[in-house]
Amino acid sequence: MQVKYYIPGLLANLKVEAAIDILSSGQYKSLICQCPYCGGRTDESLRRVAKEHFLYQRSQDMKSINGVTEGKRLPAFLERTERALQLSSEIRRKLGVEIPNQHFKTWLEVFPEVAKRI
Ligand SMILES: [Zn+2]
Repeated sequence: MQVKYYIPGLLANLKVEAAIDILSSGQYKSLICQCPYCGGRTDESLRRVAKEHFLYQRSQDMKSINGVTEGKRLPAFLERTERALQLSSEIRRKLGVEIPNQHFKTWLEVFPEVAKRI
């Protein structure tokens, strides 16, 4: 089965090989996960912890969303999306790793419009 590894800073669930390329490149240290399962690893052993890491990070995501007041959730989300979009474009340029990011552009366009109507 294809193992996927979630990188919160890229809002992306990548093939573990692609995740290892990015994390072991030495250029994106801020994306290296320090959760209790990953503990800073950037090698093949990520396969073994991918599932626990995913669940841990998603629960962290939920906590951080809940920690933001309702009116600030959309701006915080858009800011995070904007960063993920920039970073994924940069990684594609520098490392040649493809990260699907077309949906980020859609979100950035659509969500602010939707919010105006609520
Ligand atoms: Zn982790």
